[in-house]
Parts: sequence; structure tokens; C-alpha cells
Amino acid sequence: MKDFFVILRRFVPPYKKYLALNIFFNILAAFLTLFSFALVIPILEMLFKIKEASYVYMPLDQGSLKEVVVNNFYYYTQEAVANYGPAATLAMLAAALVVMTALKTGAAYLSSYFIIPLRSGVVRDIRNYVFDKITILPIGFFTVERKGDVMARMSGDVAEIENSIMASLDMMFKNPVMIIVCLGMMIAISWQLTIFVFILLPLAGMVMGRVGKRLKRTSYEGQTQWGVLMSTIEETLGGLRIIKAFNAEDKVRRRFHGENEVFYHLSNRVARRQALAHPMSELLGTTAIAIILWFGGSLILSGHSNMNAAAFIYYMVIFYNIINPAKDLSKAAYSVQKGLASMDRVDKILNAVNPIADPAAPQACPSTQKPVGVSFNNVSFSYDGEVPVLENISLDIKPGTTVALVGQSGSGKSTMADLIPRFYDVNCGSVSVGGVNVKDLKVADLRSLMGNVNQEAILFNDTIFNNIAFGVENATIDDVRRAARIANADEFIMATEQGYDTPIGDRGCRLSGGQRQRISIARAVLKNPAILILDEATSALDSESETLVQQALDRLMDGRTTLVIAHRLSTIRRADLICVLQNGRIVERGTHEQLLEPSAKGFYRHLVEMQQLPSAGE
Ligand code: ADP
Ligand code: MG
Repeated sequence: MKDFFVILRRFVPPYKKYLALNIFFNILAAFLTLFSFALVIPILEMLFKIKEASYVYMPLDQGSLKEVVVNNFYYYTQEAVANYGPAATLAMLAAALVVMTALKTGAAYLSSYFIIPLRSGVVRDIRNYVFDKITILPIGFFTVERKGDVMARMSGDVAEIENSIMASLDMMFKNPVMIIVCLGMMIAISWQLTIFVFILLPLAGMVMGRVGKRLKRTSYEGQTQWGVLMSTIEETLGGLRIIKAFNAEDKVRRRFHGENEVFYHLSNRVARRQALAHPMSELLGTTAIAIILWFGGSLILSGHSNMNAAAFIYYMVIFYNIINPAKDLSKAAYSVQKGLASMDRVDKILNAVNPIADPAAPQACPSTQKPVGVSFNNVSFSYDGEVPVLENISLDIKPGTTVALVGQSGSGKSTMADLIPRFYDVNCGSVSVGGVNVKDLKVADLRSLMGNVNQEAILFNDTIFNNIAFGVENATIDDVRRAARIANADEFIMATEQGYDTPIGDRGCRLSGGQRQRISIARAVLKNPAILILDEATSALDSESETLVQQALDRLMDGRTTLVIAHRLSTIRRADLICVLQNGRIVERGTHEQLLEPSAKGFYRHLVEMQQLPSAGE
């Protein structure tokens, strides 16, 4: 329960106003409840003709507030009976009961009304915090299996927090107030009876708890079996082609029906337990009330208590009124536990530390007016701290030149490229940009120097204009069109129905691969970066669109410091320096011509031959 209040302290402060209003109306509602039920007393006394005393009007200063209010209430009732007769007075009292109840339920509604923005607001805030954290955490945080997990926490666990902790909030603030106020009144009416109630209630609670626990276990089994069913459906949908090809429909059907049968029996058990809960609690509640009736009745009959029959009935009404809040409160305590478990899971993301942070005293960013160089100085790197991915890499990319990385898949080329914008940090050595260690620059400054074009063009579900202008604030349509022209994209964009305002669909699914790539090149052109990183930018394209994309890339690379990763000779051939990477080491370097000479080590020649690329001069 302590954690519950820790969570409140963390997330509720912006909503203090709502909480205050909620508590105010809760207290109001509790007192209105007492008063509305108190009207029952004179009605009963009148019906049973218990009170024979006659009342005189009592001014305020002649007794305690309670005495004055009670006395004068009886005085007015007595006057009303004298003037209008008992039946009319009874009707008036009944009408007053309705009005009081209307006020009471109104106050109860207002208390809920004010807690609702708090409830949904906190959940909204948690979602925003998690999303913000996702954008802050480094790429390395999100491995494939982590991605699914983050999604589950963002959707499932946040929903669980909403449904348990936040849904219980209302109760947590309402029910204790109601219970305390009612208990106060109960003690005031008869403390002996209230002590007796306190002995009796925990016994009833224990019996009910037993039933609830059984229910929880079976419903957990039911949830698990539901998961089994869902995965069978998913598997079947995914494997439909194979199932049909192997005539295995019957087999799959039998398996599903078997699992569904298990679920059927579990559902029956759960539903029957659930159905049992209500009659059980009713029986127990009535038994408790019967015992209290007997005990309280004996107290009155034996004269051990100064309460009269009407007050006793009022007592019972109030008591009945707190049974449900007490029950709900114990249920809420249980569901809050579930919510706390989810909060822990969400906190794993919220409290994750980002190792790639800005330095305490960042250095000035190299000027973007002229090209800046990039150098790797004895860099070693490993993703998991065990398997080395890069070893002792030293490479100097002179300002304005192009360096090509070639090598087999998995040799570490993309990893090298990821070290420049600090997507990962080196383990040994250093990477510097314009002569400054990347760790000494502000991360945002560093990344503002880079432009990326990757194998898979990463586009967003937005218009073409917004995709090109993605990294640049306040880009005009003229800027965007100029960039698109350089990227060979203007022509096909203008041919689409809405031109630059055409939505490209989820991840650009409405465009061809070459078109997507040219849009991502236009995006890089518009950003006008000092350093360009091209990772297999043309690998996924057919040769026709490759020509268009290659042209665009050539224009983009013009005059910039470029690291290009490619396996197509056409892309690499004109690089100022070609490095062959093998198992995380640079095994050979030189120009295309140098590396093809018979005196070269032959790694490059081997790659060229293996891929049967047309050799130089073509
Ligand atoms: P290339 O781009 O040359 O094909 P990569 O740089 O992508 O090679 O990968 C180099 C090595 O690092 C490979 O063995 C690959 O399995 C491993 N690797 C790549 N990315 C990760 C990652 N996020 N976590 C762990 N290992 C990785
Ligand atoms: Mg790669």
C-alpha cells in the first residue's frame, strides 16, 4: 500500500485541484447520507407512535448544536402534525427524504466528476513519459525482443494501471470517508453494538475471501488457456498455405476443438464460482444482519442501551450502507496490487539510463560551412561486451572525400557507420569529427552534421512534403522541390495525384522501392549535411531505378565527406579510398585500381570476382 501512495505522489500533483474537489464532495456526500437516513427516524417514530413527548422551540444558545437541531426538527414536525395532520406530515417527510437523497447523490456524482480528469490525466501522462523515453533511449536499447516487450508495456501494462490503480482511486478516496463518517455515527448511537459488529465482520470477511481466492486461481487458468487458443489461431492463419498443401485441415481442427473444450470446462468453473459469490455474500450479509438485529434488539429490550427502536433501525440502515463500500475497498486493495506489478514493469523503461548522454562541458560544433573530416582512431567495439565486432579500426576520412567500405555481410560495416552519429559508443579508441571526439560534442549538434541514406528507406505515414522536410524546420515548398529535383524525385512526385501533398501510406507502401529511396535522398539533400553516410543505399533496387538513384546520390555526395557502404562496383569505383572489412578488421585499403593490381593482397579482387561484377573500364 505504501507503493500506492508513492505513485500518487509521483503523478497526482498536477491534479491537486481535482483531488481537493473530489475529497470535498466525498465528505459532503457522506454527511448528506447520514442526514437523509436520519429523516427515517421521525417517520418511524410517527408510525409507531413511540414519541409522546411535546416539544417547545429551543433558541440556538440553549444547548449544543445537535440538541438544538434535533429538538427544533421535532418541534416543527409536531407543529406540522398539529396543523396538517399526521398523513400530510408523513408525506412531507418522505418528500424531504427524496430531496436529501437527491442532494447526496448529486454530491457523489460531483466527487466522481472531479476524479475522472485525474484518472485519465495520469494515464495520459504515463503514456507520454514512456513514449518520450522511447525517443530518448539509444538504438541499442531496442533489440528485436525488447521491441515487443516495450510495446506490451506501453499498451498492456499502462491499460492495467488504468484499470486497477486509477479505477480504484475513486473508491480509495470515497469509501474510507463514507466508512469513517458512518462509523462515527454508529458509535454515537450505540458503542456496545458497534464493538459487537467489529467482532462479527472480520469473520464474514474471511469466509468471503476463501471463495474469492478459489475464483482467482481458476480465472488465471482460464486466461492461460485463452492464450493457448489465441496462439493456435494465429499459427493456423500464418500457416494456412502449408496446412492446405498437406491436407492437414482435419488435424488442425481436431487440435483446436480439443483446446477449446478445455477452455469450455474452465469457463464453466469460473462462471459457476462467480455465480456463487453473489448468493454467498448475500447469505453471509443477511446472517450478519440477523445476528446484529438479535443482539441490538436484546440490548434495547434489556434496557442496557439508551437507543430506542427507531434509532436502532437507523443504525441498521447506516450499517447496511457501509457493507458495500467496505467490500469494494478490500477488492480495490487486491486490484491495486496487480496495478503495482504493471507499474514496476513500466518503471523499468522510465528508469532505464541512457548511456549516450551529452558531455558535461560540450565543445563547439565544427563549422558546417566547409567539409569536415571523420576519423576512427584504434576503435574496438562489441555489442554485448564479449563477441568483438570491430577491432583496432583506424581510418581517416579527409574532408570532402569519399571512403567506401566493402566486405561480406556481417563484417561490421554498418556497425562502423553507426559509431559516427553515436548510435553506439566505442569500447576502445575514439571516433572524431572535425578533429573533435564525438563524445565531447552535444549529441544533437553531432547528429545535425550527418545525413543518412540506408538500404531500407525509412519513411513516415505522412505527405511527401513532410517526409522530405522531416529534419528541417520551416522548409518552403521551393526548398523541398529543389531537393527533390536533385534527388531525381520531382518528376514522379508531380505525376502523383496531389503532388507533394500526396500521403505515402504506412512506411511508404504506396511507392516503389526506387521512389522511396529517392525521397529519402531528397530528405538528405534538404538537410545539407557536412557528413554523409550511405549504407547499401542502392542494394535493394533493380538496375533501372538504381541508375536514377545513383545519379541522385552522385549529386548528393558532391563536395561532402562521405562514408559509403555498398557491394555494387558502380557505387564504389570512384571512391577516393576503398577499405575491405573482414571480421571487424580492415584487411586491405586503396583505390579501385590499386586494389585490382596483381601486387595487391587480393581480398578486394576476390570480392569483385565472387560477385561477378563487371570489372573496371566498363
Ligand atoms: P554488415 O553491415 O557488414 O553486414 P553489421 O555491422 O551489421 O555487418 O554486423 C556486424 C556483426 O555485429 C554481425 O555479426 C552482427 O550479427 C552483429 N550485430 C549487428 N547488429 C547487432 C546488434 N544490434 N546487437 C548485437 N549484434 C549485432
Ligand atoms: Mg549492414
